Amino acid sequence: MPKILEDIGCPYCGCSCDDVRVVVSDDGKKILEVENACAIGTEIFLQATSSDRITRPRLRQPDGSWKEISYEEAFDYAAKAIIAAKKPLMYGFGSTTCEAQREAARLMEIGCGILDNCASICHGPSLIAHFDNGYPSCTLGEVKNRADVILYWGANPIHAHPRHMSRYAIYPLGFFKGNGFVERTVIVVDPRKTDTAGIADYHLQVKPGHDYELFNAFRMVMYGHEKDIPENVAEIPKQTILEVAGILKQAKFGVFFFGMGLTHTDGRNHNIDIAISLTRDLNQISKWSIMAMRGHFNVAGANRVWCWSYGFPYCLDLTKGDHAHMNPGETSTIDLANRDEIDLFINIGTDAAAHFPIDAVRHLKKHTWITIDPNMSMAAEVADLHIPVGISGVEVPGIVYRMDNVPIQYRKVVDMPEGMLSDEEVLSGIADRIEVLLQEQISGINKCNDEVTVHCN
Ligand code: SF4
Repeated sequence: MPKILEDIGCPYCGCSCDDVRVVVSDDGKKILEVENACAIGTEIFLQATSSDRITRPRLRQPDGSWKEISYEEAFDYAAKAIIAAKKPLMYGFGSTTCEAQREAARLMEIGCGILDNCASICHGPSLIAHFDNGYPSCTLGEVKNRADVILYWGANPIHAHPRHMSRYAIYPLGFFKGNGFVERTVIVVDPRKTDTAGIADYHLQVKPGHDYELFNAFRMVMYGHEKDIPENVAEIPKQTILEVAGILKQAKFGVFFFGMGLTHTDGRNHNIDIAISLTRDLNQISKWSIMAMRGHFNVAGANRVWCWSYGFPYCLDLTKGDHAHMNPGETSTIDLANRDEIDLFINIGTDAAAHFPIDAVRHLKKHTWITIDPNMSMAAEVADLHIPVGISGVEVPGIVYRMDNVPIQYRKVVDMPEGMLSDEEVLSGIADRIEVLLQEQISGINKCNDEVTVHCN
């Protein structure tokens, strides 16, 4: 009899939907059906048990071919590469569990390297803005039950977060919003005519790269300086700005969701700062929250775990041995790669080869590249060593932080192929191997600094 598993978490986007129903074959090895997930989430589950998985580590040979090796051999290769490197860098973590992220921190402490996550190329500016200006946010449950005005700025959830509107923000019947979308006003600010803009009550087609000016215009309305606003700001007529500002002010519970359209355009380093300031202004009049549309299902988790451990969410330099240091631009992956400062790159839970600028990839490829990933991604194809792991949230249970920073326990749906390990086990295996090798070299002395002992727990 096939087994039916309820309330399963989806390992794809930052919505981290935990209401997925999965039907598994009676031997527990194959996923037969997926319900409640969107098309992307369904595909992720169904692909998981496909037959063309790589199940053993592969080491690149001098002629470019792959040789299958054991996990122990892979740990030894990776440990020796980390010890030999002056500045190893481990990057990714959007699709790993918090348990693996904690173990990665231990590994890079021992290995004295740089630890960075996908926020470095997505919501990094948002995290810096939180430092500077706070983060008046809420949970997605509050959005569902209370929100009457939803503002999406630089985000297109219909494609990037397919169930965001149906599960949390627009369409669900909430406790105080029993008629769902009928009781909610939707405003979209986006230079493009996106599908999300197509369902909005108001679409403000802002001039690309001029969001900051539009924020300023809204803030001028909040402070009663309407008459000083020009007739046109960032290609939005003054009359529209006044009309939309009126809706923002009248909201009983407004929520402002922003995406990479704000964090990766001109003014990105200040857009979120002023967005938070606008949210604070609105809270003088009504109740407003702001939330980043985080991309991967646990990229927020990496920020949480490393904040507990070091006080910083990304771009962590652990090369000093006794303290962590964060300075985006100096310790961020792309900048380090472009300056060719990295002599060992470890890709985990993402696909850096597919997402990074080509010059950064070229610099990283000059040196040893290790990929820890369940899939045959581009990052796996360019690697010198590819260590396959179980799929987090499908084959590996663990804790995940949703985009609203609510932790969710993800459960296992099917077993990993026999003999495979999770990413947490792989990171732990490499860290243990480094400790053994360093002990063998000179007892009690660590790689970063002869004077300092690194404490990992
Ligand atoms: Fe998965 Fe995101 Fe779709 Fe939810 S919206 S089912 S988390 S891909």
